[in-house]
Amino acid sequence: MTNETGWNLDNSYARLPEKFFTSTNPTPVRSPELIILNESLAGSLGLDVKSLQSEGAVAVFAGNELPEGASPLAQAYAGHQFGHFNMLGDGRAILLGEQVLPEGERVDIQLKGPGRTPYSRGGDGRAALGPMLREYIISEAMHGLGIPTTRSLAVVTTGETVIRETGLPGAIMTRVASSHLRVGTFQFAAKWGTIEELRTLADYAIKRHFPDIEADESRYLSLLQEVVKRQAELIAQWQLIGFIHGVMNTDNMTISGETIDYGPCAFMDAYDPATVFSSIDTQGRYAYGNQPVIGGWNLARFAESLLPLLHDDQDRAVTLAQDKISVFNDLYHSNWLAGMRAKLGIFNEETQDEALINGILGMMKKHGADYTNTFRALTFDKMEDTVLFGTPEFAQWQELWQARQGRQKESKESSNQLMQNSNPAVIPRNHRVEEALEAAVEQGDYSVMERLLDVLSNPYAHFEEQAEYSTLPESTKPYRTFCGT
Ligand code: AMP
Ligand code: MG
Repeated sequence: MTNETGWNLDNSYARLPEKFFTSTNPTPVRSPELIILNESLAGSLGLDVKSLQSEGAVAVFAGNELPEGASPLAQAYAGHQFGHFNMLGDGRAILLGEQVLPEGERVDIQLKGPGRTPYSRGGDGRAALGPMLREYIISEAMHGLGIPTTRSLAVVTTGETVIRETGLPGAIMTRVASSHLRVGTFQFAAKWGTIEELRTLADYAIKRHFPDIEADESRYLSLLQEVVKRQAELIAQWQLIGFIHGVMNTDNMTISGETIDYGPCAFMDAYDPATVFSSIDTQGRYAYGNQPVIGGWNLARFAESLLPLLHDDQDRAVTLAQDKISVFNDLYHSNWLAGMRAKLGIFNEETQDEALINGILGMMKKHGADYTNTFRALTFDKMEDTVLFGTPEFAQWQELWQARQGRQKESKESSNQLMQNSNPAVIPRNHRVEEALEAAVEQGDYSVMERLLDVLSNPYAHFEEQAEYSTLPESTKPYRTFCGT
Protein backbone atom coordinates (compact mmCIF):
# COMPACT_ATOMS: atom_id res chain seq x y z
CA MET A 1 0.00 0.00 0.00
CA THR A 2 1.11 3.59 -0.52
CA ASN A 3 2.02 5.57 2.50
CA GLU A 4 -0.12 8.69 2.37
CA THR A 5 -1.06 7.87 5.97
CA GLY A 6 2.32 9.02 7.23
CA TRP A 7 3.74 5.84 8.71
CA ASN A 8 7.46 6.30 9.30
CA LEU A 9 8.36 3.03 10.96
CA ASP A 10 11.65 1.55 12.02
CA ASN A 11 12.14 -1.30 14.49
CA SER A 12 15.24 -0.83 16.59
CA TYR A 13 13.99 -3.58 18.92
CA ALA A 14 14.35 -6.05 16.06
CA ARG A 15 18.09 -5.31 16.06
CA LEU A 16 18.48 -6.60 19.62
CA PRO A 17 19.74 -10.17 20.08
CA GLU A 18 17.23 -12.70 18.69
CA LYS A 19 16.49 -14.07 22.12
CA PHE A 20 14.50 -10.96 23.01
CA PHE A 21 11.71 -11.45 20.48
CA THR A 22 10.20 -13.62 17.79
CA SER A 23 9.24 -12.20 14.42
CA THR A 24 5.52 -12.85 14.12
CA ASN A 25 2.83 -11.63 11.76
CA PRO A 26 -0.66 -10.69 12.91
CA THR A 27 -3.32 -13.23 11.94
CA PRO A 28 -5.79 -11.66 9.51
CA VAL A 29 -9.38 -11.13 10.67
CA ARG A 30 -12.64 -11.46 8.80
CA SER A 31 -14.17 -7.99 8.54
CA PRO A 32 -12.48 -5.14 10.35
CA GLU A 33 -14.40 -2.02 11.24
CA LEU A 34 -12.99 1.13 12.78
CA ILE A 35 -14.75 1.85 16.06
CA ILE A 36 -12.74 4.74 17.40
CA LEU A 37 -9.75 6.74 16.25
CA ASN A 38 -7.76 9.08 18.47
CA GLU A 39 -7.46 12.01 16.12
CA SER A 40 -5.36 14.28 18.29
CA LEU A 41 -2.88 11.51 19.05
CA ALA A 42 -2.75 10.55 15.36
CA GLY A 43 -1.96 14.14 14.47
CA SER A 44 0.84 14.32 17.02
CA LEU A 45 2.36 11.16 15.51
CA GLY A 46 2.44 12.76 12.07
CA LEU A 47 -0.37 10.53 10.78
CA ASP A 48 -3.03 11.78 8.43
CA VAL A 49 -6.40 11.55 10.17
CA LYS A 50 -8.45 11.38 7.00
CA SER A 51 -6.46 8.61 5.37
CA LEU A 52 -6.42 6.65 8.65
CA GLN A 53 -10.11 6.08 8.06
CA SER A 54 -9.61 4.51 4.66
CA GLU A 55 -10.06 0.79 4.18
CA GLY A 56 -6.32 0.25 3.78
CA ALA A 57 -5.47 2.05 7.01
CA VAL A 58 -8.17 0.17 8.93
CA ALA A 59 -6.69 -3.06 7.55
CA VAL A 60 -3.45 -2.04 9.26
CA PHE A 61 -5.20 -1.55 12.62
CA ALA A 62 -6.70 -5.01 12.14
CA GLY A 63 -3.40 -6.68 11.29
CA ASN A 64 -4.69 -7.60 7.80
CA GLU A 65 -2.05 -5.44 6.14
CA LEU A 66 1.32 -4.21 7.27
CA PRO A 67 2.23 -0.56 7.06
CA GLU A 68 5.36 0.36 5.13
CA GLY A 69 8.50 -0.25 7.19
CA ALA A 70 6.87 -2.59 9.72
CA SER A 71 8.83 -5.55 11.09
CA PRO A 72 6.28 -7.22 13.33
CA LEU A 73 7.47 -9.09 16.38
CA ALA A 74 6.35 -10.39 19.74
CA GLN A 75 8.58 -9.44 22.67
CA ALA A 76 9.91 -11.96 25.15
CA TYR A 77 9.69 -11.15 28.84
CA ALA A 78 9.27 -12.77 32.21
CA GLY A 79 7.59 -11.49 35.32
CA HIS A 80 6.52 -12.00 38.89
CA GLN A 81 2.75 -12.44 38.79
CA PHE A 82 1.32 -12.01 42.28
CA GLY A 83 4.79 -12.79 43.55
CA HIS A 84 5.41 -15.90 41.40
CA PHE A 85 8.03 -15.89 38.68
CA ASN A 86 6.90 -16.94 35.19
CA MET A 87 8.08 -16.82 31.61
CA LEU A 88 5.54 -14.67 29.75
CA GLY A 89 6.06 -12.59 26.60
CA ASP A 90 3.61 -10.90 24.26
CA GLY A 91 0.93 -13.57 24.14
CA ARG A 92 -1.57 -11.30 22.49
CA ALA A 93 0.37 -8.32 21.28
CA ILE A 94 2.53 -7.64 18.26
CA LEU A 95 4.89 -4.70 17.91
CA LEU A 96 4.67 -3.35 14.35
CA GLY A 97 7.59 -1.01 14.82
CA GLU A 98 8.50 2.40 16.13
CA GLN A 99 7.01 5.50 14.59
CA VAL A 100 9.92 7.90 14.22
CA LEU A 101 8.82 11.48 14.83
CA PRO A 102 10.38 14.53 13.17
CA GLU A 103 12.56 15.30 16.23
CA GLY A 104 13.92 11.75 16.17
CA GLU A 105 11.84 10.56 19.12
CA ARG A 106 10.41 7.09 18.59
CA VAL A 107 7.24 5.52 19.94
CA ASP A 108 6.11 1.91 19.78
CA ILE A 109 3.09 1.04 17.66
CA GLN A 110 1.65 -2.18 19.00
CA LEU A 111 -1.43 -4.18 18.14
CA LYS A 112 -3.16 -5.73 21.13
CA GLY A 113 -5.28 -8.76 20.24
CA PRO A 114 -3.82 -9.61 16.78
CA GLY A 115 -3.75 -13.40 17.19
CA ARG A 116 -1.47 -16.02 18.58
CA THR A 117 2.28 -15.61 19.03
CA PRO A 118 4.94 -18.08 20.22
CA TYR A 119 4.31 -16.70 23.74
CA SER A 120 0.55 -17.27 23.76
CA ARG A 121 0.74 -20.42 25.88
CA GLY A 122 -2.89 -21.59 26.16
CA GLY A 123 -4.39 -18.27 25.07
CA ASP A 124 -5.99 -17.34 21.75
CA GLY A 125 -4.01 -14.13 21.29
CA ARG A 126 -7.26 -12.23 20.90
CA ALA A 127 -9.08 -9.50 22.78
CA ALA A 128 -12.73 -8.61 23.28
CA LEU A 129 -14.24 -5.25 22.44
CA GLY A 130 -15.28 -4.29 26.00
CA PRO A 131 -11.80 -4.59 27.58
CA MET A 132 -10.14 -2.82 24.65
CA LEU A 133 -12.53 0.11 24.88
CA ARG A 134 -12.01 0.11 28.62
CA GLU A 135 -8.25 0.43 28.14
CA TYR A 136 -8.89 3.16 25.57
CA ILE A 137 -11.06 5.18 27.97
CA ILE A 138 -8.89 4.79 31.05
CA SER A 139 -5.54 5.37 29.37
CA GLU A 140 -6.89 8.50 27.69
CA ALA A 141 -8.34 9.65 31.03
CA MET A 142 -4.92 9.14 32.63
CA HIS A 143 -3.36 11.21 29.87
CA GLY A 144 -5.93 13.94 30.50
CA LEU A 145 -5.02 13.83 34.19
CA GLY A 146 -1.40 14.48 33.24
CA ILE A 147 -0.16 11.03 34.33
CA PRO A 148 2.44 9.28 32.16
CA THR A 149 0.74 6.46 30.30
CA THR A 150 0.65 4.41 27.15
CA ARG A 151 -1.94 5.82 24.75
CA SER A 152 -4.64 4.37 22.55
CA LEU A 153 -4.63 5.22 18.88
CA ALA A 154 -7.53 3.15 17.60
CA VAL A 155 -9.85 0.24 18.24
CA VAL A 156 -11.27 -1.92 15.45
CA THR A 157 -13.71 -4.77 15.69
CA THR A 158 -12.68 -7.91 13.86
CA GLY A 159 -16.05 -9.35 12.81
CA GLU A 160 -15.04 -12.47 14.73
CA THR A 161 -16.18 -13.82 18.05
CA VAL A 162 -13.80 -14.48 20.93
CA ILE A 163 -14.76 -17.15 23.36
CA ARG A 164 -14.51 -16.25 27.03
CA GLU A 165 -17.19 -17.27 29.51
CA THR A 166 -19.51 -16.47 26.61
CA GLY A 167 -18.92 -15.40 23.00
CA LEU A 168 -17.88 -11.74 22.76
CA PRO A 169 -17.19 -9.41 19.84
CA GLY A 170 -13.48 -9.49 19.00
CA ALA A 171 -11.42 -6.31 18.77
CA ILE A 172 -7.87 -5.07 18.33
CA MET A 173 -6.45 -1.99 19.96
CA THR A 174 -3.49 -0.04 18.62
CA ARG A 175 -1.38 0.99 21.56
CA VAL A 176 1.25 3.70 21.53
CA ALA A 177 4.02 3.65 24.13
CA SER A 178 7.36 5.33 24.56
CA SER A 179 8.52 1.69 24.66
CA HIS A 180 7.31 -1.65 25.92
CA LEU A 181 10.44 -2.35 27.97
CA ARG A 182 9.30 -3.77 31.27
CA VAL A 183 10.95 -4.79 34.53
CA GLY A 184 10.06 -8.26 33.27
CA THR A 185 12.12 -7.71 30.10
CA PHE A 186 15.20 -7.36 32.31
CA GLN A 187 14.17 -10.33 34.43
CA PHE A 188 13.98 -12.36 31.23
CA ALA A 189 17.45 -11.20 30.14
CA ALA A 190 18.98 -11.88 33.55
CA LYS A 191 17.55 -15.37 33.72
CA TRP A 192 17.98 -16.60 30.16
CA GLY A 193 20.48 -14.25 28.55
CA THR A 194 24.24 -13.93 28.72
CA ILE A 195 25.78 -10.96 30.51
CA GLU A 196 26.50 -9.47 27.11
CA GLU A 197 22.84 -9.76 26.13
CA LEU A 198 21.78 -8.19 29.39
CA ARG A 199 24.23 -5.36 28.81
CA THR A 200 22.91 -4.85 25.28
CA LEU A 201 19.38 -4.56 26.63
CA ALA A 202 20.44 -2.10 29.35
CA ASP A 203 22.32 0.00 26.79
CA TYR A 204 19.26 -0.04 24.57
CA ALA A 205 17.03 1.16 27.43
CA ILE A 206 19.49 3.91 28.30
CA LYS A 207 19.73 5.11 24.72
CA ARG A 208 15.99 5.11 24.33
CA HIS A 209 14.86 6.59 27.64
CA PHE A 210 17.80 8.12 29.48
CA PRO A 211 20.30 9.43 26.91
CA ASP A 212 21.61 11.89 29.52
CA ILE A 213 23.24 9.09 31.51
CA GLU A 214 24.91 7.42 28.53
CA ALA A 215 28.31 8.84 29.42
CA ASP A 216 28.03 8.18 33.17
CA GLU A 217 30.84 6.18 34.66
CA SER A 218 28.41 3.78 36.39
CA ARG A 219 25.67 4.02 33.87
CA TYR A 220 23.81 0.86 34.88
CA LEU A 221 23.60 2.18 38.41
CA SER A 222 22.33 5.44 36.93
CA LEU A 223 19.76 3.43 34.97
CA LEU A 224 18.50 1.89 38.19
CA GLN A 225 18.40 5.31 39.83
CA GLU A 226 16.42 6.84 36.96
CA VAL A 227 13.85 4.05 36.87
CA VAL A 228 13.43 4.30 40.65
CA LYS A 229 12.87 8.03 40.24
CA ARG A 230 10.29 7.68 37.48
CA GLN A 231 8.35 4.99 39.26
CA ALA A 232 8.38 6.97 42.51
CA GLU A 233 6.86 9.90 40.61
CA LEU A 234 4.38 7.72 38.77
CA ILE A 235 3.05 5.83 41.76
CA ALA A 236 2.76 9.07 43.75
CA GLN A 237 0.58 10.41 40.94
CA TRP A 238 -1.59 7.30 41.04
CA GLN A 239 -2.10 7.73 44.77
CA LEU A 240 -2.89 11.41 44.48
CA ILE A 241 -5.63 10.73 41.96
CA GLY A 242 -6.99 7.53 43.54
CA PHE A 243 -5.97 5.22 40.70
CA ILE A 244 -5.68 1.53 41.45
CA HIS A 245 -3.73 -0.39 38.81
CA GLY A 246 -4.95 -3.74 40.02
CA VAL A 247 -2.23 -5.98 38.65
CA MET A 248 1.18 -4.53 39.42
CA ASN A 249 3.09 -7.61 38.34
CA THR A 250 6.68 -6.90 37.32
CA ASP A 251 5.78 -7.49 33.67
CA ASN A 252 3.27 -4.65 33.96
CA MET A 253 5.82 -2.10 35.17
CA THR A 254 7.64 -0.06 32.53
CA ILE A 255 11.20 1.19 32.45
CA SER A 256 9.95 4.45 30.90
CA GLY A 257 7.73 5.27 33.88
CA GLU A 258 4.49 5.09 31.90
CA THR A 259 1.41 3.36 33.27
CA ILE A 260 0.83 0.20 31.24
CA ASP A 261 -1.56 -2.75 30.89
CA TYR A 262 -4.94 -1.55 31.94
CA GLY A 263 -6.65 -4.74 32.99
CA PRO A 264 -8.58 -4.72 36.21
CA CYS A 265 -7.70 -1.12 37.11
CA ALA A 266 -10.26 1.30 38.52
CA PHE A 267 -10.55 4.54 40.45
CA MET A 268 -11.32 4.65 44.13
CA ASP A 269 -14.60 6.28 45.18
CA ALA A 270 -14.77 6.34 49.01
CA TYR A 271 -11.30 6.84 50.48
CA ASP A 272 -9.98 3.61 51.93
CA PRO A 273 -6.40 2.37 51.59
CA ALA A 274 -7.68 -1.22 51.57
CA THR A 275 -9.65 -0.69 48.36
CA VAL A 276 -9.25 -3.52 45.84
CA PHE A 277 -11.34 -3.94 42.71
CA SER A 278 -9.74 -6.87 40.96
CA SER A 279 -11.68 -10.09 41.33
CA ILE A 280 -8.47 -12.13 41.34
CA ASP A 281 -6.66 -10.07 44.00
CA THR A 282 -8.13 -11.92 46.92
CA GLN A 283 -5.22 -11.11 49.25
CA GLY A 284 -5.28 -7.37 48.56
CA ARG A 285 -1.69 -7.48 47.34
CA TYR A 286 -2.43 -4.66 44.88
CA ALA A 287 -4.79 -2.64 47.11
CA TYR A 288 -4.65 1.15 46.80
CA GLY A 289 -2.62 1.62 49.97
CA ASN A 290 -0.20 -1.12 49.05
CA GLN A 291 0.83 0.23 45.64
CA PRO A 292 3.91 2.12 46.88
CA VAL A 293 5.13 -0.97 48.74
CA ILE A 294 4.68 -3.12 45.66
CA GLY A 295 6.40 -0.48 43.55
CA GLY A 296 9.45 -0.82 45.80
CA TRP A 297 9.26 -4.62 45.66
CA ASN A 298 9.12 -4.61 41.85
CA LEU A 299 12.08 -2.23 41.67
CA ALA A 300 14.06 -4.58 43.88
CA ARG A 301 13.43 -7.28 41.26
CA PHE A 302 14.68 -4.85 38.61
CA ALA A 303 17.80 -4.18 40.67
CA GLU A 304 18.42 -7.91 41.08
CA SER A 305 18.32 -8.40 37.34
CA LEU A 306 20.92 -5.65 36.87
CA LEU A 307 23.35 -7.03 39.50
CA PRO A 308 25.81 -8.63 37.04
CA LEU A 309 26.27 -5.22 35.40
CA LEU A 310 26.72 -3.23 38.58
CA HIS A 311 29.99 -4.69 39.86
CA ASP A 312 32.22 -7.72 39.30
CA ASP A 313 32.12 -8.39 43.01
CA GLN A 314 28.51 -9.50 43.60
CA ASP A 315 28.45 -8.49 47.28
CA ARG A 316 29.52 -5.04 46.27
CA ALA A 317 26.89 -5.05 43.49
CA VAL A 318 24.18 -5.88 46.04
CA THR A 319 25.24 -3.01 48.31
CA LEU A 320 25.24 -0.59 45.41
CA ALA A 321 21.79 -1.74 44.30
CA GLN A 322 20.39 -1.56 47.82
CA ASP A 323 21.57 2.03 48.15
CA LYS A 324 19.60 3.02 45.07
CA ILE A 325 16.49 1.04 45.99
CA SER A 326 16.41 2.42 49.51
CA VAL A 327 15.85 5.89 48.06
CA PHE A 328 12.50 4.81 46.59
CA ASN A 329 10.43 5.25 49.75
CA ASP A 330 11.69 8.75 50.46
CA LEU A 331 11.34 9.80 46.85
CA TYR A 332 7.84 8.42 46.63
CA HIS A 333 6.92 10.09 49.88
CA SER A 334 8.25 13.51 48.91
CA ASN A 335 6.41 13.35 45.58
CA TRP A 336 3.22 12.37 47.36
CA LEU A 337 3.63 15.09 49.97
CA ALA A 338 4.25 17.76 47.35
CA GLY A 339 1.16 16.63 45.43
CA MET A 340 -1.00 16.58 48.58
CA ARG A 341 0.13 20.08 49.52
CA ALA A 342 -0.96 21.23 46.06
CA LYS A 343 -4.33 19.53 46.50
CA LEU A 344 -4.79 21.64 49.64
CA GLY A 345 -3.58 24.84 47.99
CA ILE A 346 -0.30 24.94 49.90
CA PHE A 347 2.83 26.28 48.21
CA ASN A 348 5.54 26.23 50.86
CA GLU A 349 6.60 23.54 53.31
CA GLU A 350 5.96 23.19 57.02
CA THR A 351 6.72 20.14 59.10
CA GLN A 352 3.12 19.80 60.32
CA ASP A 353 1.75 19.56 56.78
CA GLU A 354 1.70 15.81 56.80
CA ALA A 355 -0.41 15.78 59.95
CA LEU A 356 -2.83 18.20 58.29
CA ILE A 357 -3.06 15.95 55.21
CA ASN A 358 -3.52 12.83 57.28
CA GLY A 359 -6.18 14.68 59.23
CA ILE A 360 -8.47 15.09 56.23
CA LEU A 361 -7.69 11.61 54.88
CA GLY A 362 -8.48 10.08 58.28
CA MET A 363 -11.86 11.83 58.31
CA MET A 364 -12.60 10.67 54.78
CA LYS A 365 -11.89 7.12 55.79
CA LYS A 366 -13.96 7.36 58.95
CA HIS A 367 -17.00 8.76 57.15
CA GLY A 368 -16.61 6.83 53.90
CA ALA A 369 -16.29 10.13 52.02
CA ASP A 370 -15.60 10.16 48.32
CA TYR A 371 -11.92 10.89 47.67
CA THR A 372 -12.24 12.98 44.49
CA ASN A 373 -15.38 14.84 45.48
CA THR A 374 -14.08 15.77 48.93
CA PHE A 375 -11.08 17.53 47.40
CA ARG A 376 -13.34 19.13 44.81
CA ALA A 377 -15.65 20.43 47.54
CA LEU A 378 -12.66 21.89 49.39
CA THR A 379 -11.47 23.49 46.15
CA PHE A 380 -14.77 25.26 45.50
CA ASP A 381 -15.65 25.86 49.12
CA LYS A 382 -18.89 23.92 48.62
CA MET A 383 -18.90 21.75 51.66
CA GLU A 384 -22.61 21.15 51.90
CA ASP A 385 -23.62 17.63 51.34
CA THR A 386 -21.52 15.05 53.07
CA VAL A 387 -21.60 13.84 56.62
CA LEU A 388 -17.93 14.64 57.05
CA PHE A 389 -18.33 18.38 56.52
CA GLY A 390 -20.93 18.66 59.28
CA THR A 391 -18.71 17.30 62.03
CA PRO A 392 -17.00 19.44 64.72
CA GLU A 393 -13.84 17.53 63.86
CA PHE A 394 -13.96 18.94 60.34
CA ALA A 395 -14.65 22.47 61.58
CA GLN A 396 -11.53 22.23 63.69
CA TRP A 397 -9.47 20.89 60.82
CA GLN A 398 -10.77 23.61 58.52
CA GLU A 399 -9.57 26.28 60.93
CA LEU A 400 -6.09 24.76 60.96
CA TRP A 401 -6.13 24.53 57.17
CA GLN A 402 -7.23 28.14 56.70
CA ALA A 403 -4.54 29.29 59.13
CA ARG A 404 -1.99 27.19 57.26
CA GLN A 405 -2.92 28.77 53.92
CA GLY A 406 -2.62 32.15 55.62
CA ARG A 407 1.03 31.43 56.46
CA GLN A 408 2.25 31.70 52.86
CA LYS A 409 2.91 34.69 50.70
CA GLU A 410 0.65 33.55 47.86
CA SER A 411 -2.85 34.99 47.65
CA LYS A 412 -6.04 33.07 48.33
CA GLU A 413 -6.75 33.25 44.57
CA SER A 414 -3.46 31.55 43.68
CA SER A 415 -4.17 28.95 46.29
CA ASN A 416 -7.57 28.27 44.73
CA GLN A 417 -6.02 28.09 41.29
CA LEU A 418 -3.45 25.57 42.53
CA MET A 419 -6.26 23.46 43.97
CA GLN A 420 -8.22 23.59 40.72
CA ASN A 421 -5.15 22.43 38.84
CA SER A 422 -4.52 19.61 41.29
CA ASN A 423 -8.02 18.30 42.00
CA PRO A 424 -9.85 16.95 38.97
CA ALA A 425 -13.50 17.74 38.33
CA VAL A 426 -13.95 14.20 37.04
CA ILE A 427 -12.34 10.82 37.05
CA PRO A 428 -13.56 7.83 35.02
CA ARG A 429 -16.16 6.75 37.55
CA ASN A 430 -16.68 3.03 37.37
CA HIS A 431 -20.42 3.23 36.70
CA ARG A 432 -19.85 5.78 33.93
CA VAL A 433 -17.26 3.57 32.28
CA GLU A 434 -19.59 0.58 32.51
CA GLU A 435 -22.46 2.60 31.07
CA ALA A 436 -20.31 3.67 28.10
CA LEU A 437 -19.08 0.12 27.49
CA GLU A 438 -22.56 -1.32 27.70
CA ALA A 439 -23.93 1.15 25.14
CA ALA A 440 -20.99 0.42 22.85
CA VAL A 441 -20.84 -3.34 23.13
CA GLU A 442 -24.53 -4.18 23.57
CA GLN A 443 -26.13 -1.53 21.37
CA GLY A 444 -23.35 -0.42 19.05
CA ASP A 445 -23.92 3.11 20.36
CA TYR A 446 -20.57 4.87 20.74
CA SER A 447 -21.96 8.29 21.58
CA VAL A 448 -21.99 7.62 25.35
CA MET A 449 -18.29 6.74 25.27
CA GLU A 450 -17.45 9.73 23.10
CA ARG A 451 -19.17 12.10 25.51
CA LEU A 452 -17.35 10.50 28.42
CA LEU A 453 -13.99 10.80 26.65
CA ASP A 454 -14.70 14.43 25.96
CA VAL A 455 -15.48 15.21 29.59
CA LEU A 456 -12.39 13.30 30.75
CA SER A 457 -10.02 14.93 28.29
CA ASN A 458 -9.64 18.08 30.36
CA PRO A 459 -10.36 17.17 33.97
CA TYR A 460 -8.85 20.31 35.47
CA ALA A 461 -11.01 22.66 33.40
CA HIS A 462 -13.98 22.34 35.77
CA PHE A 463 -16.61 23.09 33.14
CA GLU A 464 -20.35 22.83 33.62
CA GLU A 465 -20.92 19.56 31.79
CA GLN A 466 -18.45 17.73 34.02
CA ALA A 467 -20.64 18.15 37.10
CA GLU A 468 -23.03 15.33 36.23
CA TYR A 469 -20.06 12.99 35.76
CA SER A 470 -18.90 13.51 39.31
CA THR A 471 -21.95 12.03 40.98
CA LEU A 472 -21.71 8.67 42.65
CA PRO A 473 -23.50 5.51 41.57
CA GLU A 474 -26.82 4.75 43.21
CA SER A 475 -25.88 1.15 43.85
CA THR A 476 -23.49 0.53 46.71
CA LYS A 477 -22.66 -2.96 45.49
CA PRO A 478 -18.88 -3.46 45.60
CA TYR A 479 -17.38 -2.89 42.18
CA ARG A 480 -15.43 -5.78 40.69
CA THR A 481 -13.08 -5.75 37.74
CA PHE A 482 -11.70 -8.61 35.71
CA CYS A 483 -8.44 -9.13 33.89
CA GLY A 484 -8.87 -7.92 30.36
CA THR A 485 -8.65 -11.24 28.58
P1 AMP B 1 -1.66 -9.29 31.46
O1 AMP B 1 -2.44 -9.78 32.62
O2 AMP B 1 -2.50 -8.59 30.40
O3 AMP B 1 -0.49 -8.46 31.85
O4 AMP B 1 -1.11 -10.58 30.69
C1 AMP B 1 -0.27 -11.52 31.29
C2 AMP B 1 0.29 -12.44 30.24
O5 AMP B 1 -0.76 -13.22 29.64
C3 AMP B 1 0.99 -11.76 29.10
O6 AMP B 1 2.07 -12.57 28.73
C4 AMP B 1 -0.07 -11.73 28.02
O7 AMP B 1 0.49 -11.62 26.73
C5 AMP B 1 -0.75 -13.07 28.23
N1 AMP B 1 -2.13 -13.07 27.72
C6 AMP B 1 -3.21 -12.41 28.23
N2 AMP B 1 -4.30 -12.69 27.50
C7 AMP B 1 -3.95 -13.54 26.50
C8 AMP B 1 -4.64 -14.17 25.42
N3 AMP B 1 -5.95 -14.00 25.22
N4 AMP B 1 -3.92 -14.97 24.62
C9 AMP B 1 -2.61 -15.16 24.81
N5 AMP B 1 -1.91 -14.60 25.79
C10 AMP B 1 -2.56 -13.79 26.65
MG1 MG C 1 0.77 -7.41 30.96
